[in-house]
Amino acid sequence: MSERRADLHIHTYYSDGTQSPAEVVSEAAACGLAAIAITDHDTLDGVSEAVAVGQSLGVEVITGVELSSDFSGKDIHILGYLFGLSDNPLLEKLSLIQSGRVERMRKMIDKLISLGINDIAFDEVSGQVRSDAVGRLHLAKLLVQKGHVASLDMAFTRYLGEGAQAYFPKYQQTPYEAIRLIKDSGGLAVLAHPMLTRKDELIRGMVSAGLDGIECYYPNCSPAVTDFYLNLTTKYGLLATGGSDAHGRGKTSTWISKAYVDFSVVERMKQRLAAS
Ligand code: AMP
Ligand code: ZN
Ligand code: FE
Ligand code: FE
Repeated sequence: MSERRADLHIHTYYSDGTQSPAEVVSEAAACGLAAIAITDHDTLDGVSEAVAVGQSLGVEVITGVELSSDFSGKDIHILGYLFGLSDNPLLEKLSLIQSGRVERMRKMIDKLISLGINDIAFDEVSGQVRSDAVGRLHLAKLLVQKGHVASLDMAFTRYLGEGAQAYFPKYQQTPYEAIRLIKDSGGLAVLAHPMLTRKDELIRGMVSAGLDGIECYYPNCSPAVTDFYLNLTTKYGLLATGGSDAHGRGKTSTWISKAYVDFSVVERMKQRLAAS
C-alpha cells in the first residue's frame, strides 16, 4: 500500500472505547495507517501512551480530544487537535467537565431507579472506564446486558437519547466556547460528524469563533453528504478532516480505518496551526 492514510477520530477505554491506547496504535499499524489521533470524550489520559507506542511502531499519533457542547439542547461535538499536553486551559476545564459527567451519571442512574430499573450501580458504570469520563454508552451497555432493552439503539431511544426519559445534559458550554477553549490551548478546532449533528446553520458562527475544519469523511456517510461538507470547507477556507470514530467493541458500526483522510491533511493541519 503506497497511499499514506490518517484516521483522526478514535476512542480508547479512557472514555467509551474498549481498547487501550496501545491496542489502538497496534491495530492502526496493522491497518497500515501512517497517523492517527486519539480523540477521547473530555479526557487526554490516553494520549501519552499512544504517542509512546506510536513512536515504536512507526505510527504518528497527534494529540486530540472530543468535547461536547450544547446549543438549544442539541449535543454538538468539537474535536481538538495538536495542542500541547501541559499548561493549557483545556486541562483545568476537563477536570470540571469530568466531575460534571460523574454527577450527571448519578442523576441518570437515579432517574432509571425512579423508572423501576434499580439494578444498575454507579460502580458498574465507572468500572468500564479508566478516567472519570463516564458516559451514556457505558450505561447503555448495562441496560442491554441486564435485559432492560434489546439493543444499544433501544437504550438511547427509550432512555438515554437527547430528550428521552433518563437523559441529562453534560457540563454546559456552547460550541463557540468549546472552540475558543481549544484555540486558547494552542490547538485546532474541528466540527465532528456534522452529518449526525445536523446543525449546519451554526457553522458560519463557529467559523467566526475560530473553527478550523469540518469532519467530512465519516463512516456510513454517502459521498454526496461528504461532498456537501467539502463544499462548505471550500466556502469558509477550512480543513476537511475525517476519521472512523472507532470505539473498539463499543460500537459495531465502525472500526479503526473505516474512514480516513490522506496523510497530507495532517501536514496541512500543522501548517494552519503554524500560520495562526
Ligand atoms: P455522552 O458523551 O455521555 O453524552 O455519550 C455520547 C456517546 O454516546 C456518543 O459519542 C456515542 O458514543 C454514544 N451514542 C450516542 N447515541 C448513540 C446511539 N443511538 N447508539 C449508540 N451509541 C450512541
Ligand atoms: Zn463515544
Ligand atoms: Fe462524537
Ligand atoms: Fe467520537
